[in-house]
Amino acid sequence: MPPPLSLPVLLTPFQAALSEWGDRVRRDLPWRHTRDPWSVLVSELMLQQTQVARVMPRYVGFLARFPTPAACALAPVGEVVRAWAGLGYNRRAVHLHMAAAVVVDRFEGALPEGLDQLRSLPGVGPYTARAVSAFAFEHDVGVVDTNAARVLARAVAGRRLAPVEAQALADSVVPPGRGWAWNQAMLDLGATVCTRRRPRCGQCPLAAPPVGATVGGCVWAGGGHTGPDPADGSAGVSGPQSAFAGSDRQGRGRLVDALRAGPVTVAALPVACGWPQEPLRAQRVAAGLVADGLAVVADDGSLRLP
Ligand code: SF4
Repeated sequence: MPPPLSLPVLLTPFQAALSEWGDRVRRDLPWRHTRDPWSVLVSELMLQQTQVARVMPRYVGFLARFPTPAACALAPVGEVVRAWAGLGYNRRAVHLHMAAAVVVDRFEGALPEGLDQLRSLPGVGPYTARAVSAFAFEHDVGVVDTNAARVLARAVAGRRLAPVEAQALADSVVPPGRGWAWNQAMLDLGATVCTRRRPRCGQCPLAAPPVGATVGGCVWAGGGHTGPDPADGSAGVSGPQSAFAGSDRQGRGRLVDALRAGPVTVAALPVACGWPQEPLRAQRVAAGLVADGLAVVADDGSLRLP
């Protein structure tokens, strides 16, 4: 049998420009040094709502404590919540613990490769499933987070994209065999150059068609940025967040921080939440933590981590 033919991959001008830029300037992030699916899942869940700079030191420490799904599943969920300190949105820690248990029970301790199987894990939505698929298994799927969606809407479509359109477009532009590097480049471009408020088009590899090509430049920039920003309202592109200061979210975070130090009595709940004058509000937030699996009520009525 003759060996299979290895054909060169022909890239479109758009693919060539972004691939060259991505390979040249790729950010050196700890989770980019691994293809271990568990490590990638941990990084993706951490990065969902938290900035890269805050995730970096905690990612390393978390994996040192829970290097495998089995190590995580065997630990009490409270320990996982403790290791999540500083990342916020603590329900992700509960979801990760639940996902680890499912991986152990149903997949013999190893994360599955298929998108449907990945999506069957608690806390793993379409974005996270595709991120694990691309960044751990190097599959050629499009990963559409808020950064990639912004680039797709501005550079490729030149108009607002519905969720299904954004995903289909993202899948269609992945160069064959380059899913890992391509998606990293998309995320990097959106995070560092094609930013939400002030895109730095002068430094963007997509601003104009590549040398020698007549097509391939950014649609929105090529049109002189006329009309509304295509990213506004596009699938996956988040708008401004509601204020954190004074919100229930803030009190919730404070209460989980207090629980990391030890049990909190009912009388101490308002102070732990930062609302000494609002005991009913504190109790409502505490009940929410219990409902979300982030806290349990001990025999003496105090609240503690599970
Ligand atoms: S040219 Fe400007 S708007 Fe277009 S992708 Fe680059 S940074 Fe974004």
